[in-house]
Amino acid sequence: MNTQLKSQPTVFVIFGGTGDLNARKLAPALYNLYLEGWLPEQFALIGTGRTKLTDEEFQGRMLNDINEFSRTGKVAEDKWAAFGPHIHYQAADVQNAETYRDFGKLIKKFEKEWQGPANVIYYLAVAPNFFPIIAENLAKAGLTEDADRTRIVIEKPFGHDLESAKELNALLARIFEEKQIYRIDHYLGKETVQNIMAFRFANAIMEPLWNRDHIEHVQISVTESLGVGERTGYYDGSGALRDMIQNHLLQLLCIVAMEPPVRFTAEEVRDRKVDVLRAMRRFTPETVREQAVRGQYGAGWLEGQKVPGYREEPGANPQSNTETFAAVKFFVDNWRWQGVPFYLRTGKRLHRSASVITIQFKDVPHLVFSPETVETMRQNRLIISIQPEMSIRLQVQAKRPGVDMMLNTVDMVFDYKGTYQTQAPEAYETLLLDVMLGDQTLFMRADQVEEAWDLVMPILTSWQNRISQNFPNYSADSWGPEDAEALVAKDGFHWLTLPLNGKK
Ligand code: NAP
Repeated sequence: MNTQLKSQPTVFVIFGGTGDLNARKLAPALYNLYLEGWLPEQFALIGTGRTKLTDEEFQGRMLNDINEFSRTGKVAEDKWAAFGPHIHYQAADVQNAETYRDFGKLIKKFEKEWQGPANVIYYLAVAPNFFPIIAENLAKAGLTEDADRTRIVIEKPFGHDLESAKELNALLARIFEEKQIYRIDHYLGKETVQNIMAFRFANAIMEPLWNRDHIEHVQISVTESLGVGERTGYYDGSGALRDMIQNHLLQLLCIVAMEPPVRFTAEEVRDRKVDVLRAMRRFTPETVREQAVRGQYGAGWLEGQKVPGYREEPGANPQSNTETFAAVKFFVDNWRWQGVPFYLRTGKRLHRSASVITIQFKDVPHLVFSPETVETMRQNRLIISIQPEMSIRLQVQAKRPGVDMMLNTVDMVFDYKGTYQTQAPEAYETLLLDVMLGDQTLFMRADQVEEAWDLVMPILTSWQNRISQNFPNYSADSWGPEDAEALVAKDGFHWLTLPLNGKK
């Protein structure tokens, strides 16, 4: 998490420089960091991929990408004249150990020019099967030896299951110290997610209520209206549980459920988060059946357009057993949370795209008002809206204006846009700057990743072993399969959704 420090002279090597992630996220993020004065003067970006390009050609691609995807809009000519020359390109096949020497030579060249050593960041924006070979080849070429100046950034997914995550951690640990490894979960870089920690730990009023005595249940919902589209090749080997719950949603749960850290430092925060994962109740085959629901979307209509089912998407397996929706009830077995259910839900082709955390408080112990005066009566809810709306709203009961005593539910709202009137940085801006500053607070540590895999493994195994008989079981524009409603309804709840304009 950034301080006002500026980063050291930096060489930023992007493996997968010609890929989609760089185009849509990394290039715009680095440019915006430059615009806001966060990049050091001595900064070089080296893009790499197999495609043969000159520096100028690569600069041209980055310019187009930034123009298309940057939150700050089209690039001004004078800004590009200053930023463009920092961008370089080196064609290389990551499987060819020989080519890594070229990176070494380039890095040396910059260090000579800058008359001093540089921090070197290797960003792995390539398919996950290349993570091990790149790490190994960097080490063979002697490019990882300076533990204080060399960092590696690993994109999602980190492993495919517990075993592969452990293998990757072990391989990385042979080459790097943990302080050099930055495992990205871009949700952690979102302003609204970081603000949950500020809200919880910088305000005295929340802590006394933040426990099983006052909170009835918690819901974390990350829904998308988009389908899988062209990405079935990747998605079919993954599914909603691996793609979203194992990482993003469990990280959100950790931030909601963690104990206050003693200090806001990387190790303290990550220790408290891993405590949550360790306290989470493990699943048995029986509890998987009772507490985990999967779904796959069928064909339907979305915003007046006919949309295909998952099995009809381009390149999809027509018998695919992959879930595009998952809803799971978790428990955190510790003093603070014993008995409080945490319902997590995610899916594609749903009614709306939104990421929302709802903390539902317990009912009042005794209602002093007569039932006739209560127009609407709702338990207090704290609704943390991560995207697209960025807000925190507390739902409370109030007296409706009028001479009579009538109660209804109103929202007290903190809205980012209205309050700050500035554009929030993209998650990748925050995270890339943190890598440059050497701050690991918002990155996953090896033990966190492994605990999260350990937790979901029984669900993955059970779903793999039992072919779903009812896929597809939800249609486009719905809120998922009926079983997901039943999961919460049998506990007396329903899924809470925040309508578009934020009203109830
Ligand atoms: P992509 O568009 O398919 O790009 C893959 C990149 O890898 C290209 O630059 C390609 O360059 C390079 N590459 C492939 N084989 C190579 C080889 N043998 N040697 C050198 N370079 C090689 O993939 P992506 O969508 O950017 O995703 C990259 C990583 O980020 C994946 O791990 C993905 O899971 C993760 N991620 C992506 C997104 C996203 O929004 N795209 C979001 C979150 C995470 P050449 O074709 O020039 O060789």
